[in-house]
Amino acid sequence: MTHRLPTLAEREDATRACSYCPKLCRPACPVATVRGNDAVSAWGIMTSLAPIASGTEPPTSERLARAYACTGCGACQSHCELDVPVAETLRDARAEALAGGMAPAEVTAFVAEIPRREERVRDHARQLGASTERPTGVALVAGCTMVATDVPRVAALHRAFVRWFGEASLVADVCCGAPLLDAGDLEGFRVRAAAMSDRVSAASTILALDAGCAHALTTLAPRRGVETRPIETLESYVARMVRRLPRGALAALGPVAVHDACKLGRGAAVYDAPRVIVEHLTGHPPLELLHNRERSRCSGGGGLLPITARATADAMTDELVESVRRTGAESVVTGCPTSRARLARAGITAFTIGDLLCDLSRGTPE
Ligand code: SF4
Ligand code: SF4
Repeated sequence: MTHRLPTLAEREDATRACSYCPKLCRPACPVATVRGNDAVSAWGIMTSLAPIASGTEPPTSERLARAYACTGCGACQSHCELDVPVAETLRDARAEALAGGMAPAEVTAFVAEIPRREERVRDHARQLGASTERPTGVALVAGCTMVATDVPRVAALHRAFVRWFGEASLVADVCCGAPLLDAGDLEGFRVRAAAMSDRVSAASTILALDAGCAHALTTLAPRRGVETRPIETLESYVARMVRRLPRGALAALGPVAVHDACKLGRGAAVYDAPRVIVEHLTGHPPLELLHNRERSRCSGGGGLLPITARATADAMTDELVESVRRTGAESVVTGCPTSRARLARAGITAFTIGDLLCDLSRGTPE
């Protein structure tokens, strides 16, 4: 036992459980499926990490770097009879990789770029007129990915929310830290999650436009010692308030499919809300993908996979596109802004629930 790594050592039981398992979750892993390679399945990666977690073999960059062949979609855990926390274990392996200088070069470059990205986010938040004070009413957490890349969309979402549900303060200049956790920067994640938690501490209601932020702050941060108040997803809030929206106002959309995004569905256990909203607004229940609810497929955009294995991530998007096309739907609603962007780039008309609120505002007089 001479090689124990402090964070990964706590995952000895989890990695051992997988190494004794006959790959029961193998069909669920989208990365292994598109690569046709069991070595990058939950079973394959966990088994290769087991001797490192137990300290019987020293860590190598090849083995630790395999932890980055994962989007953190959680599909393996929802298929696992033992409820093994694969994605969380791989996040800890990433932390060991980054701390030990064994992370892929793309990841260390991503982490080095974070300060510039955060400066861009703060600049965009100023353009959005977002306050830097602690809100006391409804706090609308925008999510740094959207703020960094699409200021007009964030502005439109904020306007649409206020139009239908009343005043809300946009929180746009701080990040929940999820991208750092994906990279393996545990301390960076804790610092950001604590700052976000403090920022929204006085709010009467905290809502996240991106379910990834809600999952990071509500579920992942407390596991790493950062206490936060629960954050509700926009989808569940809008579903509760759906009677405020004009029934049938988006009937012209035609058949709509629902994609159960990883962090909204498996992450926050929100499955019915997007279906309730789509049915209310279009007048018809949405179409279902072959793999839906707990068995839904990731678009490939999570866990930094687009920067560590771009071709794999794109192949996952292609599979999801094919799945949407097979339903005959003219558009798809997803709970993941990154999936929306990836599907749109692949030629699919894709919306988030926030986008539907914006469409509603455009088509309905004040
Ligand atoms: S996550 Fe569960 S089902 Fe998958 S390999 Fe590990 S023990 Fe088996
Ligand atoms: S979390 Fe998703 S991508 Fe990662 S190992 Fe499990 S099924 Fe595969």
